Amino acid sequence: MNYATAVYETVAALRSIREQWAELLLAIETPPADVWPPRQLAHTLRAVDDEQLVVEDRAPLVLREHPAPANLDALDAGLAIERQVFDLADTLAAAVQHTSHGDPRRWDYQHPGAAHARGAAGSRAHGLHFACVWVEGRVLDEDTEPEQQLDGALAAPPFAPMPPHLLHEARRTARLAEGRLLRTLGLDQRTTPVPDRPCPWCGGELTLHTDPDEAPKVTCSTGEDCTAPVPLDDHGRRVWGWADLVCLVAALAEADHPATMQMRPAARPT
Ligand SMILES: [Zn+2]
Repeated sequence: MNYATAVYETVAALRSIREQWAELLLAIETPPADVWPPRQLAHTLRAVDDEQLVVEDRAPLVLREHPAPANLDALDAGLAIERQVFDLADTLAAAVQHTSHGDPRRWDYQHPGAAHARGAAGSRAHGLHFACVWVEGRVLDEDTEPEQQLDGALAAPPFAPMPPHLLHEARRTARLAEGRLLRTLGLDQRTTPVPDRPCPWCGGELTLHTDPDEAPKVTCSTGEDCTAPVPLDDHGRRVWGWADLVCLVAALAEADHPATMQMRPAARPT
């Protein structure tokens, strides 16, 4: 693999981790998903300003108390991902960091002897989001040029460029952490039959499709004879994309509770 590709893949994995981290924090506080609606549709089903988490200033999981996590798998995954990325930052800092103490760009190691937990955690106290941004900066060789001081003199660069063997370690670690995060959230590439929930329009079997690079979608097994008011995909199946999933969720809710007639989709056959 060439150097540029490794940089690209590492940065993509780190950004994916940052983007999905709020979902994992929510997953820890939510019991494992019922059959329907699946956890994978959380993005779609949650109202836009509902439960929006700002992850930049969230304390890391390792420094928090978890008296009763609702989803232990998600907590285990979150702790493992934090540890992998924090350890990677330690490794890179040891190899390429020349910043002085007090420079906000500096990655500080843990200080087990410090008086309180946040101080003892060093830069880990800033959380996973900060660690991902910091590692990305090293992968992109940011701040590796001599810097001009106020008096005009040149100071040594805060960081050395990343040696190739460490770039490959960073890529491997970031992709492993991203893979675990996506699997935990059910956002890796997979197709999942939706059990006990036939298509409300034709009774066909519904299948949920997820992909880390695309919004989730659902298809009906029947084909074009299905009368659902949604387009056909490349395989001739009715497909509920991002915009139509809310309609499908409402139709399935009505199938569960027929009394809620006002939820009935207009195009449903009688
Ligand atoms: Zn159908």
